[in-house]
Amino acid sequence: MLFSNPSLPLPLKKEGKEVNYVGRFAPSPTGPLHFGSLITAVASYCDAKANRGLWHVRIEDTDIPRIYPGSEDHILQSIHAFQFEPDSEIIFQKDRLDIYEDVIQQLHQKKMVYACQCTRKILGSNHIYVGTCRDLALSFDQQAIRVKVENLEICFQDVLQGQHCSNLATDLGDFVLKRRDGIINYQLAVVVDDYLQGMTHVVRGADLLDNTERQIWLGELLDYPRLEYIHLPLAMNDQGQKLSKQNMAQALDLSKPSELLQQALQALKQPSVELDAPNKMLKQAIAQWDLNLIPKHTNLDGFYI
Ligand code: GLU
Repeated sequence: MLFSNPSLPLPLKKEGKEVNYVGRFAPSPTGPLHFGSLITAVASYCDAKANRGLWHVRIEDTDIPRIYPGSEDHILQSIHAFQFEPDSEIIFQKDRLDIYEDVIQQLHQKKMVYACQCTRKILGSNHIYVGTCRDLALSFDQQAIRVKVENLEICFQDVLQGQHCSNLATDLGDFVLKRRDGIINYQLAVVVDDYLQGMTHVVRGADLLDNTERQIWLGELLDYPRLEYIHLPLAMNDQGQKLSKQNMAQALDLSKPSELLQQALQALKQPSVELDAPNKMLKQAIAQWDLNLIPKHTNLDGFYI
């Protein structure tokens, strides 16, 4: 049955009151959390709580081969060490694969998905898929599943980055929702869970800006409401590269959470917060939170870690 997962955390009320802000932190356990992840966690948390909203944590672990050993534990330990208080139990996408399969079926009924046998070898890397398999009506068994896009420009107004647009057909092409090896793609899982968890706001790194039009398209096909997007500028290393698991960004040192929290708030250009226990610092940061102070660029210029 569709959307029947009993573990879904759906309190859209807090202390008996309706909330109109639901946000989240949704790390992929492809490496330990680093300072860039902390910036996302802090900004999503403070923005949600400053708006008297809910904040959920979701582990995006559908890409099993890319899971880095120990990183799920590091995420959970980090939530604890920084004394974040999620408003529901943490969910793991790998426990929810049936739900994503159901949504693929739902899109199949709408004739919006098809099986694709083109391999990456045939297509090359930086391609825009031209729809070779669209009308072949291949069986879904052991093939990649793609969603159809139309020749349509999608635009959204990012709270920090301003207007962002892509033409679905000419900039992006039909994209993969499920890989040939059965792995559910991030684009699908993120859209489905943001909907099922009642998200209203997405606060995440600007490296994900270019994924947003695909996600809006999927949401529209499924009649999900549109979300607000806040793409944060990225922390860089001293060689001017964005911090990422791929370029071996240092894992957060959980023995000094208060110092790291202070640095993350500085990076976000928030009013200063004295060193104290993390929960006290977060409380003060929420009271002083001002989204408008966050630099409106895709990089945190001049801030290197
Ligand atoms: N799981 C993604 C990541 O760790 C973030 C997804 C999102 O915030 O939409 O990069």
